[in-house]
Amino acid sequence: MRCRSHPKATVGIAGLAALSTIVTIGFSSTSGRPLNADGRTSLLELLEQISREKGQTPEAGPMGSSPQPPVARSWSSPLTRQCSGIDPAIRRRLEAQLRRESSWRATVPIDPTNFGIRHPEDAYGQPLDTTPRVVVLHETVYSLNSAVNTFLTPHPRDEDQVSYHTLIGLNGKVLDLVPPSKRAYGAGYSAFLGEWAITNKRFKGSVNNFALHLSLETPRNGANNNSSHHGYTRQQYDAMALVLSDWIKAFNLPPAAITTHRHVDIGGERSDPRSFNWSELQLRLAALGDLCVAEAQ
Ligand SMILES: [Zn+2]
Repeated sequence: MRCRSHPKATVGIAGLAALSTIVTIGFSSTSGRPLNADGRTSLLELLEQISREKGQTPEAGPMGSSPQPPVARSWSSPLTRQCSGIDPAIRRRLEAQLRRESSWRATVPIDPTNFGIRHPEDAYGQPLDTTPRVVVLHETVYSLNSAVNTFLTPHPRDEDQVSYHTLIGLNGKVLDLVPPSKRAYGAGYSAFLGEWAITNKRFKGSVNNFALHLSLETPRNGANNNSSHHGYTRQQYDAMALVLSDWIKAFNLPPAAITTHRHVDIGGERSDPRSFNWSELQLRLAALGDLCVAEAQ
């Protein structure tokens, strides 16, 4: 067990297990193509897949310049602008939950090999904007404990390193694993709105340098490569809305900046999070006042 003390409550692995809307304008930031379901059967395969995605050397750009990212695919956010029709009961519930944040949110420092700095320049010396500007949603496929154990395990080889900033269990417990100021390794070969960053010439571009990665624990009937499962719990949607609301305010993110691994993945192998209900997120972010903003982008 590698949990170290931290200003926020730190939980041990053993404890983890315990652990009407008016729709007006859509956030048309800029639709993802359908991808196959995750074909994973083990965390080892997850690591191997990351390895494959990371292990491909990008095509060299002209005169040693940075290889160009793919043509931008538009992202039509399912979240829509909403300033009225807020459910007061949801707002009260979320506000009450926020007041007792220490009872459901904890920091678990993971092994430092599994995350890194946000690089101020790419592998070709070009400056990079390290400000987080996309939130990528994931699911764990397997249990939260299994995922955390992977992140606590040192992975000296770059190809094996993997992490999310934040994990949310089926019981609504939130584990902060990587500080938002750091770069979590949540996606391999990926881009968002035609943007990626290449921070190592051995690997293709990725959104990791400017992304925040949030992952949901998959329900037990989802530990397979089926295209859907039972979906996520009310507690998960509540906690996720509070975490996202926090990030939206901290980094001035438009709601359209919230997307999925399925969308940003270029390799065509990722379809997570499966069975995600955007309407549940809409209800909660609207209740928190985060969707009453000018149309994004
Ligand atoms: Zn993912």
